[in-house]
Amino acid sequence: MVPLTKIGPGGEFEPLQVRAGMRVFVLTGAGISAESGVATFRDAGGLWEQHRIEDVATPEGFARDPRLVWRFYSERRRRLAEVQPNPAHRALAQVPGLFLCTQNVDDLHERAGSRDVVHMHGELLKTRCSGCDLDPWYDESVYPEPPVCRNCMALLRPHVVWFGEVPFHLPRIFEALEECDLFVTVGSSGAVHPAAGFVSHLRHLGRARCVYVGLERPENAHAFDECRLGKAGELLPTLFRIHAG
Ligand code: NAD
Repeated sequence: MVPLTKIGPGGEFEPLQVRAGMRVFVLTGAGISAESGVATFRDAGGLWEQHRIEDVATPEGFARDPRLVWRFYSERRRRLAEVQPNPAHRALAQVPGLFLCTQNVDDLHERAGSRDVVHMHGELLKTRCSGCDLDPWYDESVYPEPPVCRNCMALLRPHVVWFGEVPFHLPRIFEALEECDLFVTVGSSGAVHPAAGFVSHLRHLGRARCVYVGLERPENAHAFDECRLGKAGELLPTLFRIHAG
């Protein structure tokens, strides 16, 4: 199927009707935080904020040079403190009963008022031990040198999912996908799996309407019913029409 692609600023798209009892699943990617000033993965043209992915976002990179990895994530923590949620984050916080799953490690959905956000790629403001099974904890600290676990003396690591690692919460996510009636992806290039495959899974089930919202057609555009092209901050505030009762 060739999905319909529409281009335009907010306001000229028909709102998606959300009636009582409908289950809505929204998957967000780096594009939703772009207007807040957080660099997307793609922005840097293959380099992620001047670093090779293999060096800063893989378990092998961490084993090779934990100091570089901690400096990279410390800098991202510092920058996160300087940005604010944008109208797209705030619009999603207004949708009742939404299953909100994000690939982003930032906390902008929470700061906009969303609760129970499913962070499938982890959270930048959490730290965990690479050696023992202490629960991850909230941590805004920046580390010029790699910190060590007081419990087992192994290195602490950022609580993020690196390439080659299994994303978090997948059973819960697939359960919600299988029950949803409307699936919306916002600002994700459709290149990073397994999230990029959620829409094909839904197409196979044949139950939910699937809509993409973002600046350009994603790599998995063929699997959506419709692609709405534009900035998330302009399109999200009028994307849904919520019917009470
Ligand atoms: P991506 O960078 O691969 O794709 C971003 C998409 O957003 C692009 O298709 C781009 O066209 C679109 N976009 C850019 N500006 C937009 C705007 N204003 N409105 C709507 N769309 C816009 O990101 P991805 O698909 O999320 O995958 C990259 C991986 O990198 C993810 O796993 C994520 O965890 C990680 N990442 C996270 C953050 C963050 O936490 N904010 C930032 C960068 C990368």
